[in-house]
Amino acid sequence: MADIVDEIRRAYAAVGIRLDQPAAYGTYYRLRCAACDQVLGNVGDRLLPDMAAALVDQQFDLYATGLLGCDCGHQREATRALAPARWATAQAGAGG
Ligand SMILES: [Zn+2]
Repeated sequence: MADIVDEIRRAYAAVGIRLDQPAAYGTYYRLRCAACDQVLGNVGDRLLPDMAAALVDQQFDLYATGLLGCDCGHQREATRALAPARWATAQAGAGG
């Protein structure tokens, strides 16, 4: 269980989100903005290996364009630093 939580933690850390304490019965963890600590949602720990990274990867464009993530824009900055070319493509795809 600890391994998958570590994996989830690493996956979200890449886009500027940190995992907080378990929210309910140890099966859900709060997601908080790594910059301003705002709660952004929950993630369950019943993921299979590599699922967390795949989930975050699927949401990359949404974080890059600010459709997902914190109002402070930290995830937008984090995704830009993570993959600048992909980030730029996401901006173009969002159509302004
Ligand atoms: Zn924030």
